[in-house]
Amino acid sequence: MTDSDIQPDTDYDVAVVGGGPAGLTAALYTTRLGLDTLIVNRGGGRAAMMQDTHNVIGVTEDTSGVEFLQTAQAQVEAYGATYQRGFVSDVDDEGDHFTLHVDDEALTTKQVVLATGFSDAEPDPPLPPTGRGLHYCLHCDAYMFVDESVYVMGHGDSAAYVAMIMLNFTDEVDLLTRGDDPTWSEETDRMLRAHPIDVIHEDITGMTRGDDGWLESFEFEDGTVREYRGGFPMYGSNYNNELAIDLGCDVNDDGTVAVDDHGRTSVDGVYAVGDIVPGHNQIPVAMGQGAKAGIAAHMDLRPFPRSVEDIEQYGSVDADEVPAVSQSLRETARAFREGEVESPADD
Ligand SMILES: Cc1cc2nc3c(=O)[nH]c(=O)nc-3n(C[C@H](O)[C@H](O)[C@H](O)COP(=O)(O)OP(=O)(O)OC[C@H]3O[C@@H](n4cnc5c(N)ncnc54)[C@H](O)[C@@H]3O)c2cc1C
Repeated sequence: MTDSDIQPDTDYDVAVVGGGPAGLTAALYTTRLGLDTLIVNRGGGRAAMMQDTHNVIGVTEDTSGVEFLQTAQAQVEAYGATYQRGFVSDVDDEGDHFTLHVDDEALTTKQVVLATGFSDAEPDPPLPPTGRGLHYCLHCDAYMFVDESVYVMGHGDSAAYVAMIMLNFTDEVDLLTRGDDPTWSEETDRMLRAHPIDVIHEDITGMTRGDDGWLESFEFEDGTVREYRGGFPMYGSNYNNELAIDLGCDVNDDGTVAVDDHGRTSVDGVYAVGDIVPGHNQIPVAMGQGAKAGIAAHMDLRPFPRSVEDIEQYGSVDADEVPAVSQSLRETARAFREGEVESPADD
């Protein structure tokens, strides 16, 4: 008897869709826990937008998102994962396995991890460059605006709330509705009026930037000029949840994919991690979710110990059935241990 009597033969054990911090961490765990892992990544994504990295202990601030991701990719490849640049257009649930459609290729896998993230809805120009006056991550960047003049752009409840939250860091906060009618609730309106925030309704017509590229000021339709170090546009998130919806995963009203505490979705064999699931949109959080889902994938797939039910159906484990790790992963693990695989840390 072979393992394939119990589990289907597939190209990979786990396919991770999305190569940001969440997907790469899930892949790191599944690979190091003996599962043949494929990562398919279109490129871009939110982590790749980072000019600097904040809040990740052990990673210096001057590390860009692209550098961070390149190191992470090299790490998971060194452990034996396969990294493929491409776009996953569809995932078919075949009952006991999945077929992934990557560009014009079809690849089979026992489990799928969705780590597809979201895109921030961008306001209209004129805008400063991302990370130099235009910021999408409050928990990352509020620290750099302590005692600075800050704007928040938007016309809904979230914009009003973020403006009030920024008063924890500075006493100079403007809320810029840019000509849109406010849609925030009456309760929010009452709260807003009770906080020292200027609400500016005129749209922005121009801006000035310093030699270092950072925003210095916005000019408004009525000719006024207001100085800002930076701020946060609050126009919502476009979740990359199409694959999850097609697979039949439960999706929350806001577009996030519903998961349990280990990243399991409502569909067996499908996990979701990172910005695509509810929670704080932070790299350490995404990495924690990736780690938990990677371990859960291992626990859900590992063939040993064989259960009493399976022993009754398939018999005892033969000596030639172990170890369960594939030949190629065994060879990579041995080569890595013996220093034959260059790890990024050796650079
Ligand atoms: C400007 C900016 C700065 C930030 N700074 C920080 C910071 O300093 N510290 C911090 O902790 N957090 C920061 N964040 C938040 C952080 O970037 C995110 O929380 C984190 O990247 C989420 O990781 P993820 O893997 O879920 O998603 P992402 O990093 O967005 O990665 C998702 C990946 O999936 C790919 N993908 C999507 N669909 C498909 C498909 N169908 N097929 C193949 N690939 C697909 C995308 O192309 C992308 O590469 C910042 C965010 C922004 C926007």
